[in-house]
Amino acid sequence: MSYNLQYPPRFYCVYLLRSIARKNSFYIGSTPDPHRRLRQHNGDLAFGGADRTKKNKLRPWQMTMVVYGFPSKISALQFEYAWHHAYRTRHIPVKNRIGTRNSGNSVHIKIANLKLLLSAHAFRRMGLRVAIFQKDIYDIWVVNRYNVSVSESVLLKLDFEENQQKLIQGGNYEQMKAFVKSLEKDEDDYFEISLEKLEQNNTRICCVCTRVVDQFEDVLGFCASKSCHALYHVQCWAEEMTKDLISEPLSHTVPPLTPVKGKCVKCQKVNWWWPTVKNSMRLHQHFTEIGRPFIKN
Ligand SMILES: [Zn+2]
Ligand SMILES: [Zn+2]
Repeated sequence: MSYNLQYPPRFYCVYLLRSIARKNSFYIGSTPDPHRRLRQHNGDLAFGGADRTKKNKLRPWQMTMVVYGFPSKISALQFEYAWHHAYRTRHIPVKNRIGTRNSGNSVHIKIANLKLLLSAHAFRRMGLRVAIFQKDIYDIWVVNRYNVSVSESVLLKLDFEENQQKLIQGGNYEQMKAFVKSLEKDEDDYFEISLEKLEQNNTRICCVCTRVVDQFEDVLGFCASKSCHALYHVQCWAEEMTKDLISEPLSHTVPPLTPVKGKCVKCQKVNWWWPTVKNSMRLHQHFTEIGRPFIKN
């Protein structure tokens, strides 16, 4: 089994914008920086707004929700394109398609198509997450008018005020900035703790193969549970997680037999694969950069 060691993007999301002025106008896009992108759509930055969002009668826009956790920028762009063209995308079988080219205005259809894509063959094993910033969008998700069941591997993060007065504020500049910042802080903390654990000599044994690990040679994974942080060779852990799995062909952006999630053999808590591997790649990059210290005999 081999893994593509290309470092995944720090953050890349596909988003659904809504016009505050015309609440039934939506726009699907993708970006590594939702705060900056929203400012572009609203004309607060000189360059980069999409043509359709430039109409003054539609401005300002807010972000209602984002899909994130893509293992690569390409997979995010593929998802964006498929959502935008849900009436004809190959990722949704013809018999399951909802809506036509002209029914793009219904947000119920947009969210039904989003759910179909999250469960699609090419995307369902990526461990994608959905963050919702406006309560009425969450209500539409729950009402589920088109009765689409969504893969249980999709994590939902709700980030809005219950107070109806504040509804339209959801997905504004400050919130988008804080959202990405808090995800990055979690990743930084995970990385720092992983480094600390590696400095403690007694923890340098892989929990699966029980061999001593070498951080300069091996790609290492740590259980994300704060009370555990058990250490693994990423490959050993992947094999452990997928040993009961039947191989199936996947999208070319995800190698075959990539786990979605699996238990830590030490604490039994569920770990999501991509956040774990993202940390592993960062560690690998870190140790490759500093290099093995020269030891005099
Ligand atoms: Zn091992
Ligand atoms: Zn654990």
